[in-house]
Amino acid sequence: MFRFIVGHRRLVALLSRAIARETLPPALLLAGPPGIGKRRVALAVASAVNCLQPRSSPELERDACGECAACRRIARGVHPDVIVVEPGDTGSIKIEQVRDVVDRAGYRPFEGRRRVVVIDEADSLVSAAQNALLKTLEEPPSASIFLLVSSMPDALLSTVRSRCPRLRFGALAPAEVSEVLIRDHGYGEPDARAAAADADGSVGRALAAESADLTDAREDARRLLEHTARSGDPTRRLDLVKDLTAKKGTAASERDRLSVCLRAMASLLRDLGVLSSGADRRILANADLESQLEPLTAAFGHDRSLRAYAAVDRALGALERNASPKVVADWLVLQL
Ligand SMILES: [Zn+2]
Repeated sequence: MFRFIVGHRRLVALLSRAIARETLPPALLLAGPPGIGKRRVALAVASAVNCLQPRSSPELERDACGECAACRRIARGVHPDVIVVEPGDTGSIKIEQVRDVVDRAGYRPFEGRRRVVVIDEADSLVSAAQNALLKTLEEPPSASIFLLVSSMPDALLSTVRSRCPRLRFGALAPAEVSEVLIRDHGYGEPDARAAAADADGSVGRALAAESADLTDAREDARRLLEHTARSGDPTRRLDLVKDLTAKKGTAASERDRLSVCLRAMASLLRDLGVLSSGADRRILANADLESQLEPLTAAFGHDRSLRAYAAVDRALGALERNASPKVVADWLVLQL
């Protein structure tokens, strides 16, 4: 629904007004950086067009109710007149996918007022698929609307671009990014603000950075366990942990990074306990690392895994109580 779109107020109001006055063009290109909500806007258009009980407000001439049968079906992705086309496993949108929607667009809508075809990541349409779409974009069936969504609109054929008026979406403000992270992705306020500050106005980018951080942290944790399994030499161990805490960044980010790494380590140690006790492997949290964890069970048997897990837990508690990350890491690495 338009009223839940964060940011893009001017474009959203424009779309809402065009739908209310029935002046929405039959084909539009929603262009702008990735991860800012363009697809969401396209689906909000589909809802506002097909809602059975649309409402209006001073800011939005027409918006979906969010509660009627049509709105609920659109939200669940099962409305027969709202079709979303997106790249498959190959990363491209194939000509067969386009032929299918072109065929369906030729019929009258089943239930809705107008059929809305959303082509997400339209730049991944193979050329043949773009050409197959051209004729429909030139003479769109009266009851259909085509919304092409793209963060690389210039990768589209000029013939396609020239038939779709372009709406230019901009990056979100950091406060808007953090608002979405809190509302839709379960972030707490401080984490959301920190992630948004580094995300160039893109929610998608903030989410991707977090998963990259997690992957890095888990890899750091795994490597540390691998080394401690091999060497009991305290000096060598303290050297290892230097890499973990001596990365650039502020004191607060150093603390955050270490806690993320320690949480990953706790999860790996739990899995080592599972592997060494011969429990059902389907409960492994890091199943993708099973082949790398397996050799570690020789050193990290059941008891040592448990002890190490308890030590990591204490280290996390100390970090929460504001102990210095370096002191905590040094202490921990000698307990493993
Ligand atoms: Zn509705």
